[in-house]
Amino acid sequence: MKDYHTHHPSPNGGYICAVTRADWERIATAEGMIPCFGIHPWHAHEADPAELAFELDDWLTRHPQAGVGETGLDASPRHAATLETQRLLLQIHLGAAFRHERIVQLHGVQAWSEILKILRERHRCGTLPRVLLHAWNGSHEMAREFLQLGAFFSVGLRELSHPKAAERYARIPEGRLFPETDDQPAHWARTVALLGLLRGGLA
Ligand SMILES: [Zn+2]
Repeated sequence: MKDYHTHHPSPNGGYICAVTRADWERIATAEGMIPCFGIHPWHAHEADPAELAFELDDWLTRHPQAGVGETGLDASPRHAATLETQRLLLQIHLGAAFRHERIVQLHGVQAWSEILKILRERHRCGTLPRVLLHAWNGSHEMAREFLQLGAFFSVGLRELSHPKAAERYARIPEGRLFPETDDQPAHWARTVALLGLLRGGLA
């Protein structure tokens, strides 16, 4: 089992996601990891959209195994001021991932319903790439909507320890829900165990 979302190399392998543009060189060469190139919504204000579009295209061409991200929308009070830029950057990431047939690592805070709308629109136009919703904490009803769009989910110890974890995650089909540490390697064993329990609990 690999780590589906982290920002540092993991002994289990998995997806290593960029946060800023400065991370790309470092993650591109991380051993045993699948690099994902992008700019995190928390750093939207530092990005030049045109440059990002150009560079993503170039880096994805040169790294045929790489994914895209971390991108997404964060509408929490701390980041709401940059939402317009976040939306533009998200579309750039989704477009590049679609053209290069890569998976996109998505971050959503107080924004899953808007992300759903954006993905649905791309689905309607036939330009939706594969997406992974990281630290997924939405309802099962909303998960079903994303599942219809082919989405994958990853969850860490924080999500799995939530009182609503069983209700949220137990009915997500096998092969669509994966563990992540999001840079908390000490959480790995417990995350994998809890995910297994969630499955076992269904029997
Ligand atoms: Zn992250």
